[in-house]
Amino acid sequence: MTNPLQDLIDGNRRWSAAMNDADPHFFENLARQQSPKYLWIGCSDSRVPATQIVDLPPGEIFVQRNVANVVSHTDLNCLSTIQFAVDILKVEHIIVVGHYGCGGIQAVLDQRRLGLVDNWLRHVGDVAQKHDIMLSALDTMTLRNMRLCELNAIEQVVNVCHTTMVMDAWERGQKLAVHAWCYSLDNGHMNDLDMHVDARDALWPTYAKALNRLAALAGKSPA
Ligand code: ZN
Repeated sequence: MTNPLQDLIDGNRRWSAAMNDADPHFFENLARQQSPKYLWIGCSDSRVPATQIVDLPPGEIFVQRNVANVVSHTDLNCLSTIQFAVDILKVEHIIVVGHYGCGGIQAVLDQRRLGLVDNWLRHVGDVAQKHDIMLSALDTMTLRNMRLCELNAIEQVVNVCHTTMVMDAWERGQKLAVHAWCYSLDNGHMNDLDMHVDARDALWPTYAKALNRLAALAGKSPA
């Protein structure tokens, strides 16, 4: 039987050769160790690959992705990734990256049943419920999707900040900031949601400011 993944293996060899041509020591250096400064918590969506859309090579970003970029306090996978990134790799930035037009977010807005994943998306449903007044004031579903993608990224930053790993890191004076971004599939632009938290005391004032900014935008796109 021919290998149905042969195209991917061929692509890998082409990529590896091109990287080697550009820098003959690239793989040698990278194989020795990784020392990324960033942890990226993003959506599993195939259109939002981490390093590529911020123009960085392999080795620069530690990555956790799941449907709708959720940070749940009982998700051992995500918590372990945060712990390893903060305690061992000592990343300086954790970025929660939502994206406009997210299918997980839309499923919540449509109250559509997709299967097991509905239980996971319940976390996003809770975010929608919490911000129901802001969301129902918007005229169209497109705007509601846009706003919920932003609100979800901001709320997941709160969850990251509340993990024991992040609170302990701040307690011992480790340099660490947590941020919320939202990516546009339409033009490839990243939108900074003005949610940058670098200390425990900064969380709620920063959260309030970020939410006020979204509320003031009403039906306008911030991008
Ligand atoms: Zn998504």
